[in-house]
Amino acid sequence: MKNGCLYIRVSTDDQLELSPDAQERLLLEYAHKNDILVSKEHIFHENGISGRKADKRPAFQQMIALAKSNEHPIDVILVWKFSRFARNQEESIVYKSLLKRNNVDVVSISEPLPDGMIGSLVERIFEWMDEYYSINLSVEVTRGMTENALRGGYQGSMPFGYIHTGHKEVPVIDEEQARIVREVFDMFLNGSTFTQIARWLNNQGVKSTRGGKFENRTVRYMLQNPFYVGKVRWNYYDRKNSKYKSTDEVIIADGKHEPIISQDVWDGVQAKINTHIREYKPRDVSTCKHWLSGMVQCSSCGASLGYCKSGHYFNCYKYTKGLCEHSHFITEKSLVENVIAGIETKLDSRDFYDVHIVRTSDNSSQIDILRKKIDKLNIRLIKAKDAYMDGIDSLEEYKENKTKIQKEIESLQNDIVELSSAKIEDISNEELVRKMTDSINASLSVIKDENSDYVEKGNALRRIVEKIVYDKENNSFSFMFYLSI
Ligand SMILES: [Zn+2]
Repeated sequence: MKNGCLYIRVSTDDQLELSPDAQERLLLEYAHKNDILVSKEHIFHENGISGRKADKRPAFQQMIALAKSNEHPIDVILVWKFSRFARNQEESIVYKSLLKRNNVDVVSISEPLPDGMIGSLVERIFEWMDEYYSINLSVEVTRGMTENALRGGYQGSMPFGYIHTGHKEVPVIDEEQARIVREVFDMFLNGSTFTQIARWLNNQGVKSTRGGKFENRTVRYMLQNPFYVGKVRWNYYDRKNSKYKSTDEVIIADGKHEPIISQDVWDGVQAKINTHIREYKPRDVSTCKHWLSGMVQCSSCGASLGYCKSGHYFNCYKYTKGLCEHSHFITEKSLVENVIAGIETKLDSRDFYDVHIVRTSDNSSQIDILRKKIDKLNIRLIKAKDAYMDGIDSLEEYKENKTKIQKEIESLQNDIVELSSAKIEDISNEELVRKMTDSINASLSVIKDENSDYVEKGNALRRIVEKIVYDKENNSFSFMFYLSI
């Protein structure tokens, strides 16, 4: 048996990306098949796909430190692809040679390698191909698109108001939609906000080009899209980092299509948006957190109620974007009181028939512990045999020892079987009431303690409640409680 660890990282360059969970599942399957022991603390997830933080790769550094440590806790690092381990060949060579000195291998489960020299050669080729592919692809795509944009070409989906008539054909105006576009520009010039316009569009039953509802940001996008004055724009949005590119990177060229909006209206709208944006102070997300964030849902649309710290209130976040028609405004004080009252009512009722029982994977850590005990006992078996072979123990002593150890192993194995097949229905009503009462009491004491911070309160609530639905019209709150066993 070897000891292994998993390194999981998501790359945006890869078209065939697997989710972190899927990578973990495949890696664990591989480890199981190949007799590699992976304990929970040896699973390293790299959070954050891009940006400066990812360059430092904290999980990776932690793993390397572990692999280098004198106790030699791991023999092998498993990755889904070599490109997940290192981002370029240079990095790969540096870390792999360092690991080799510590007798730690790096294995890519989807890129099996032959042994020996050929194996290392193939490994280099895999890495080199990944790197080449990712650099070359982005250069080629950008170059082609830029040339097209400068020539006034038309790729991708058409903005609302235009119809695509074929590849490299000039798009034509959809008169019905164009009328709405002009109305949107006029409304904005006459003082309507993005949100008000989005709500107006949704009330009219107008659907966006993707068939969805309008939001404040889609309205803003429409108002800032130079396509409506006959231009073609490229390199506007950085999908990789989900942000708009700086103006000097954006390419705008004259198009061949008919404009829907006159230059005068366009200029007026742009001037207004620019002053509007300057006046708008973005909220700092960290100041908006509340322990109830994400736990309470709007009964009309199912979206979460978002917290506005400056106003001390909650409301359906889709309503604030113009996507939900029913305001679920509630003051923070009132929501907190109602949530605590709801939990207390449930506790007093002692009626938990509707509690959702969840089996957590906590069993697996217990099973891990038992497996480790069995491993140790197996070593004791070998040592007992050695003692007999070396003449230290008599045959009787060895037999006695052996039977004792084997019995212990057997009983541990039975425990594992029991743990892995424990049934949800096994829980009796008395047990349910007792566990739920204990659990609610524990959480309530944290929630009601004024010294608890919002993280502690939030976690306490999440240990007993799946979600809360707020129905403003009927002034009712419904709670979905759960018990994890
Ligand atoms: Zn809503």
